[in-house]
Amino acid sequence: MSSFDQLGLIAPLLQAVRDLGYDKPTPVQEQAIPLVLAGRDLMAGAQTGTGKTAAFALPILQRFAPLASSSTSPARHPVRALVLAPTRELAVQVAASFRDYGKHLPLRSTVVYGGVDMNAQIAELRRGVEVLVATPGRLLDHVQNKTVMFNQVQVLVLDEADRMLDMGFLPDIKRIIALLPKERQNLLFSATFPDEIRTLAKTLLRNPAEITVTPRNVAAELVTHVVHPVAREKKRELLAYIIQTRGLKQVLVFTGTRIGANRLAHQLRLDHIQADAIHGDKTQAEREAALADFKAGKTAVLVATDVASRGLDIEGLPQVINFDVPRSPEDYVHRIGRTGRAGLTGEAISLVAPEDMESLAAIIPPDGSLGDLALEDSITSLRCRKCFWMRSQNAAGEEGSLM
Ligand code: AMP
Repeated sequence: MSSFDQLGLIAPLLQAVRDLGYDKPTPVQEQAIPLVLAGRDLMAGAQTGTGKTAAFALPILQRFAPLASSSTSPARHPVRALVLAPTRELAVQVAASFRDYGKHLPLRSTVVYGGVDMNAQIAELRRGVEVLVATPGRLLDHVQNKTVMFNQVQVLVLDEADRMLDMGFLPDIKRIIALLPKERQNLLFSATFPDEIRTLAKTLLRNPAEITVTPRNVAAELVTHVVHPVAREKKRELLAYIIQTRGLKQVLVFTGTRIGANRLAHQLRLDHIQADAIHGDKTQAEREAALADFKAGKTAVLVATDVASRGLDIEGLPQVINFDVPRSPEDYVHRIGRTGRAGLTGEAISLVAPEDMESLAAIIPPDGSLGDLALEDSITSLRCRKCFWMRSQNAAGEEGSLM
């Protein structure tokens, strides 16, 4: 693998990646950076955790470095790069990456997202920023408010494009694209490529270079997939048991609904497990606090819905647990993208009730195309006396069994 020096990056960017302790580019960076520097449009198959943010942020910063100005005049800092992201959390992380990578360059960046007061964002935008990271809805609020101008935009990035479509942002994205100058570079990053993404890519991208660092719908290779068969009404008990017996200190648990997430976090707390929930009904401040506590190790379990989990950059998360089976293969891939990151191994544990088996089979093909799949016997693998008890009850055909 090449080093960052061989990718043609300028000294202030090389210094920034050194400051961050990166010694070599990740595969997506190695492939994307020269293409983006050459001005190509790009369609990149890469999920969060692959280093995709630097793959677009470094060459974008390099492209605008010659235009950097130390003037305080807002007119000297027009929006030149626009990055659209599906969730506030991802937008915040991407903006933080731009700041980290651009810290030796006088380029400005900021982030706007919904759920918080607009005034602070308006003030930042009025000062002028070269790189604007935004969630689509809030960006359109600023357009309406005339606090943002797009006439100097030369690069558009759609980050986690598949999730933006899942979240119904396509009409907003189209409205935004219609406001941009026609001559521009377009970079589309997506973990998966369902048909709608391919259709969007055809209208958006001009002669794009295509790169893929994870094959279509294939999850991170370093993840072991474990399935625990369990009766629906025993899932919470088994979850608490797994967490307690294995001493799990930082585990992300997925539920299908916001109400389910709240309820599960509450029940885990009753079991004396520090747990919190993160989902779309929470305020931005609550979401940030929950994420900060989880990252700091104050809460051991974060219960999340799919939407809320997007783009969460929690490095080295050893386990994710699917309390509810995800609705689609894309969701499964995204969920497990939280583990097995940055070269570390991870484990994706799914608690599967008999009635979930069919949907799970659609999501995790038994042909091994997702990687190794271990069908755990929840009972013996955990050496769980209580579970043995439940299993023996099951064998006797009584209620309260695990399966
Ligand atoms: P991303 O996929 O952009 O969300 O990046 C995932 C994580 O990998 C982030 O925490 C980055 O700081 C980190 N990262 C990105 N590029 C590299 C690299 N070349 N070497 C080591 N870590 C990296």
